[in-house]
Amino acid sequence: MIKEGSIVMPGDVVAMAEELMPGEGTFQDDGAIRSSMLGRFKVDRKKMLAIVEPLTAKPLVLKEGDTVICEVKQWMDNLVLTDIIHVAGKKRQIAGEHDAALFIANISDEFVTHPSTKYRIGDIIRAKVIKVDPLIQISTKGKELGVIKAFCTNCRKPLIKKGNTLECPVCGRKEERKIADDYGMGNIDRVV
Ligand SMILES: [Zn+2]
Repeated sequence: MIKEGSIVMPGDVVAMAEELMPGEGTFQDDGAIRSSMLGRFKVDRKKMLAIVEPLTAKPLVLKEGDTVICEVKQWMDNLVLTDIIHVAGKKRQIAGEHDAALFIANISDEFVTHPSTKYRIGDIIRAKVIKVDPLIQISTKGKELGVIKAFCTNCRKPLIKKGNTLECPVCGRKEERKIADDYGMGNIDRVV
C-alpha cells in the first residue's frame, strides 16, 4: 500500500488486493488495486476500502466576498430569492445550500421601492456573498453587480442594453433592471 495522502495518476497501483478492497476512484486489476483517476489516495479503515478522491471534485464552500452568478427564483416584498448557479472563477460545484437571499436594502446604492422593479424571475445576476450564516445573503450594490442577462417579461427573448434601460429586440418592450456594467457580455467568471 502506498502512503496515504499521495497524489496518484490513473492506473497507479495504490494497494494490493489482499490489503484493501476497491472503493470509489479505484478498481481491481488482478492482485492490485489501481487508481482510476488523478486524485489523492485515502483509506476507509472501517470498510477497508482504497479510495481515490478527485482533486477537483471537493465541493466548494461559499465564503463571504465570493462573486456568484445566481438565477432569480422569486421575489417578496422585502427580498429576492435566488439560486446560486456558479461561483465566479471556480470550476467546482457548490456544497450544500444553493439558495441565497437578496434583501431590498442590498439591491442597489439607490433607494429601491420594491424588488420587482429591479429584478424579475429568470434574470441571471452577478452578486457578492455578504453573509453565509445562518442564511446565504448576497448584495448587488456597485456598478459591476446586477443583471448580466435578462429576458423580456412579455416574450421571454433576451433583452438588449440601450443606455440605462433594457429593450426587447422582438416586441420592443422597455424594462428596468439593476444592470451590471458588462450586461450581455457573458462574463460569468469575472471576479469583482
Ligand atoms: Zn419582448
